[in-house]
Amino acid sequence: MSLASYAVGVDVGGTKISAGLVDRKGRVVAGTIASTPTEGPFAIVDSIIDAVRAVTRDAHPSELAGAALGLPAQIDWHRQTIEFCTNLPLAGVDVHGVVQTRLNLPVVIDNDGEVAAIGEARFGAAKGARDFLMITMGTGVGGGLWLGGRPYRGSRGFGGEIGHVLVEFEGLQCPCGGFGHLEAYASRHALVRDAREAAATYRGAAIKRLANDDLDAITDDTLLQAVREGDELAGEILARAAEIFGRAMVGMVNLLDPQLIVVGGGLGQKTPVWVEAADAAIRREALAGRADVRVVPAELGNDAGVIGAGALAFDEYDAREEPGL
Ligand SMILES: [Zn+2]
Repeated sequence: MSLASYAVGVDVGGTKISAGLVDRKGRVVAGTIASTPTEGPFAIVDSIIDAVRAVTRDAHPSELAGAALGLPAQIDWHRQTIEFCTNLPLAGVDVHGVVQTRLNLPVVIDNDGEVAAIGEARFGAAKGARDFLMITMGTGVGGGLWLGGRPYRGSRGFGGEIGHVLVEFEGLQCPCGGFGHLEAYASRHALVRDAREAAATYRGAAIKRLANDDLDAITDDTLLQAVREGDELAGEILARAAEIFGRAMVGMVNLLDPQLIVVGGGLGQKTPVWVEAADAAIRREALAGRADVRVVPAELGNDAGVIGAGALAFDEYDAREEPGL
């Protein structure tokens, strides 16, 4: 028998749902993108199903390996259930079962950070690496572990949550409810909070002006623009966030001894400061023998989730069809 030549990768985010028909070389041969519905879980599930149908319209069912969905959620990998989901109302919703039944296609769900790690391992910056750490910097800080040449999800599937490691005792509150976690210091959420606070002060006048004097209009792009224009306070905010991120990566290197750290996600790709700060901190502070750990930017860009999910769907298909492979 011939192996399926296409898989569907779906990247479900807080603001958009992207889907792609992916081939075995990681090429996206058909794609679609839609805004994530805000009407509730059933609208989101419908939107996922519509996206898969749109990209598989011209494919024959026998050509399809299946579909994989990357979700910004804590997923029990073995049970294929969504246990927690901060940014979307999907906790407890049987996305896996409903999508699989309605599409009559094998479906697997996974954490979006892990999916990005799979994509970078197969087709991106970590091609050929046996042990690496994927960081996805966006509104939050996601992560995916690739250890021993395969995804490492922990005992249930909740592993790799690098955004929720402690960087300051009794520190700022994190969106997860905890205190002092990395995500509370180095994420879009953190930068926007700091930029808005700064803009309310005399020294933050430049940041405020870039947002047309509307503090609520300040985004991470506002801050990065102010940095590019040489604003001192904006530079301090970004440098501090990057330094905290870099120090956190020293701990990761000491714990895991990876070959490399791949930094991606929307915010991760907007500025090189994360890669530079982590690289410098590791050289300066990591335990002996670890100074050559490389920190590199992700290579798959906005398609990382779709390509990684496609690769995951192929892996699951191959494991079913040719168990000895
Ligand atoms: Zn947290």
